[in-house]
Amino acid sequence: MRRRIPTIMIIDDTLENLRVLEEMLKEAGYGVLAFPRGDLALRAVAKARPDLILLDIMMPGMDGFEVCRVLKSGEDTKHIPVLFISALGSTEDKVKALSLGGVDYVTKPFQYEEVMARVRTHVELQRQRKELAAAYEKLKVLEAQREKLTQMIVHDIRSLLTSIVGNLELAKMYSLSDEALKSVDRAFVSSKLLTEMTSSMLDVSRMEEEELPLRFTEVDIGSVTKGVLEDLGGLKGSRSVRVSVPDTDLKVKCDSQIIRRVIQNLLINAVKFTDKEIGSIFIALTASRDKIRVSIEDNGHGIPSESLDRVFDKFFQVSSIEKGQKYSTGLGLTFCKLAVEAHGGTIGVESEIGKGSTFWFELPRLPSTSPSMQH
Ligand code: ADP
Repeated sequence: MRRRIPTIMIIDDTLENLRVLEEMLKEAGYGVLAFPRGDLALRAVAKARPDLILLDIMMPGMDGFEVCRVLKSGEDTKHIPVLFISALGSTEDKVKALSLGGVDYVTKPFQYEEVMARVRTHVELQRQRKELAAAYEKLKVLEAQREKLTQMIVHDIRSLLTSIVGNLELAKMYSLSDEALKSVDRAFVSSKLLTEMTSSMLDVSRMEEEELPLRFTEVDIGSVTKGVLEDLGGLKGSRSVRVSVPDTDLKVKCDSQIIRRVIQNLLINAVKFTDKEIGSIFIALTASRDKIRVSIEDNGHGIPSESLDRVFDKFFQVSSIEKGQKYSTGLGLTFCKLAVEAHGGTIGVESEIGKGSTFWFELPRLPSTSPSMQH
């Protein structure tokens, strides 16, 4: 591809200066636009899009500082480098010129070598800046396409998984041998975990783009929790799972499907990260005047303190690869945090290595007598 000839705009009220610079630059192969007044140059600049502006400071009417100010405040012109032309020795002017966004200055009377060296440097820097900006824009487009493609694939995988889970559930109803039942159970557990993974991947993207519509209804969080527990089925293995629900109204205004998945995620994590023989999980629901708290405590291997404030970060995992942890995306807790916060709630964790972890979240509580607030 042929390179475009860089264009340089010169603004100087001394016609002799204009002539000398124009000749110098044209000879060096640059395109040149020369203006004797700042206001005329400003009128032409947005359209001309020069690669560099050589700007005299001392001009009658609009001086170089003012022209620079206007250039730097325009969206289309602020990235054009300005090289000031200053009289030799006026340090104060040079400092002001640089503080206004000028990239450099050349001094009068012109030294051919000095002018050419500075012009070359700044034209090259500008070329690289433009190239970088264009590459960045291209990368953003590609990244958006990749994200979209991933989402489409993951979405299709989830649909297929839903069908697998449903069919495995059906298969369990047939009179199968103990061995066959065990295999079906194992396939069922794995498919459930995979479904959860794919859902988290899809929902985190949608929540980040604020494209996941929340369907708020009045929900009793106690029943939601019990529902999640019933669904856990074979996943829990021989771990003990207890739940404590107080005998009060536990109404919150939430998207019950989303909050159900938050509890499910936290519970599945508690299962995944506890021993399958001696694992013990305790789900406690508590209510204060204006909040309902769900906490899920486990006696698993815990989380190192230095990782605690990062577990909710996207893709963060505590060295799960070393531990051979399968079915891991590091997105489950990110989903939980985004979901709880979208409900005006808070989420947190306390954990101690070797003792276990307690993940909790709180949602604003509805007054028990409030009328139904379906949206
Ligand atoms: P995933 O489980 O897919 O890796 P999460 O976002 O759900 O992703 O969890 C991030 C990391 O936090 C996990 O990889 C694990 O290291 C840690 N973690 C989450 N829950 C627990 C828990 N109950 N006990 C110990 N570590 C946990």
